[in-house]
Amino acid sequence: MPTPKSDLLASDGKVVAIYYTLRDARGEVLDSNRGKKPLAYLHGRGSIVRGLERALEGKAGGASLKVEVAPADGYGEHDPAGLKQVKRSQFPPQARLEVGVRFAARGEDGQARQVRVHAVDGDTITIDLNHPLAGQALHFEVTVAGVREASAEEREHGHVHGPGGHEHGHAHGAH
Ligand code: ZN
Repeated sequence: MPTPKSDLLASDGKVVAIYYTLRDARGEVLDSNRGKKPLAYLHGRGSIVRGLERALEGKAGGASLKVEVAPADGYGEHDPAGLKQVKRSQFPPQARLEVGVRFAARGEDGQARQVRVHAVDGDTITIDLNHPLAGQALHFEVTVAGVREASAEEREHGHVHGPGGHEHGHAHGAH
């Protein structure tokens, strides 16, 4: 007998749609998709932070849970090697170089990443290449909006297609 859709549980190869609110240790909301479209991800592929994926394992649509994710299972510990000193002259003249200011930069691998000004000492600017949430405990409140089987194509690509997932512009089959 086929299993009704609503009985599917979050596990490897399932597409799980979630509503979440992410708070930091002080209870401040960092991110939320409540009131918007649910986020759909392919379970078991590490597309969401590991600690959250683990907590969602075995959950069905309608489940609500609170999850505290330690840095190691979230965006990693803060790595001191991610602090780099750069000369002020390497920034555009109009750049606002104050502690805490964030900007997008292209890394050596060509990937865009967020960089934060960590310290300013005269002409020497220390930037922090760590993920902005590195070293932070993540507090999630999650509701599972639904669980469905992934298509063969989604499994092959390693990500979700269609609503809530990758609505990528590239032609499918091309990657
Ligand atoms: Zn794809």
